[in-house]
Amino acid sequence: MIVAIDGPAGAGKSTVARALAERLGFRYLDTGAMYRALTWLAMQRGLDLGDEAALAELADAEPVVFDEDDRVWIAGTDVTSSIRETRIDRMVPVVARHPAVREVMRARQRQLGREGDVVIEGRDIGTVVAPDAAVKVYLVADREERARRRIAERPGIGADALATDLRLRDESDAARTRPAPDAIEIDTTHLRVEDVVERIEALVRERTAV
Ligand code: C5P
Repeated sequence: MIVAIDGPAGAGKSTVARALAERLGFRYLDTGAMYRALTWLAMQRGLDLGDEAALAELADAEPVVFDEDDRVWIAGTDVTSSIRETRIDRMVPVVARHPAVREVMRARQRQLGREGDVVIEGRDIGTVVAPDAAVKVYLVADREERARRRIAERPGIGADALATDLRLRDESDAARTRPAPDAIEIDTTHLRVEDVVERIEALVRERTAV
C-alpha cells in the first residue's frame, strides 16, 4: 500500500510522514531528499544548474540511496545534514523544475514505492508518481506558521530572510505542488503532529478494512 503525503515546505510533511510510517510499520520515502541530494552533488561538481541534460545524466548515474537508518547518500557521501542547508533550500527548485530530471527521479521513486508498504512524501506523489496510492493527503498551513517551523530547523538564518526564502520557494515550486483531485486536505496550522498522524492513520485503517 502507498500513502502519499504532498504539500508545500513547512506544512509538516516530513514530521507527519515519518511518525505515520513508524506507527504503521511502513517504510518511509522522502522524495524531497532525493532532489536535495542531486542539487548538493551538482553544486559540489560545479555543474550549471540550468543544464537540464547534464543534470538528468547525473541523476541517472548517481542514484540517491537511503540506508537502514534513513541516512541519505549520493556518490558515496553521506549528505543527510548538508542537504538541509539554506544554500540547498534556495537552489533545489532550480534543479527540480527540469522535466528530464523529474523523469529520472520519478522512475526511481516508483521503483522504491513498489517494494511493499510505504509512506511517500513530496509534491507530486498523489498526482504523478503514485496516482493509484491508496491514501492521498495534502497538507497545508499558514505561511507564518510554516516559516516559524522552519526557524527551528535553520538556526543559521534570520526570520526575515527565511520568510522570504519560503515565499520564493513556494513560487518556484507552485507549478509542481498541487493536490490530487482525490486527496484529503488537512490544514496543520493549529493541529498537533499526533492529531494529524492519527487522522491519516484512520484513513489508512479504513482503506485496509475495505
Ligand atoms: O520537501 P522538501 O522541502 O525537502 O523538498 C525540497 C525541494 O525538492 C522542493 O522545494 C521542490 O523543489 C523539490 N521537490 C519536488 N518534487 C518532490 C519533492 C521535492 O520538486 N516530489
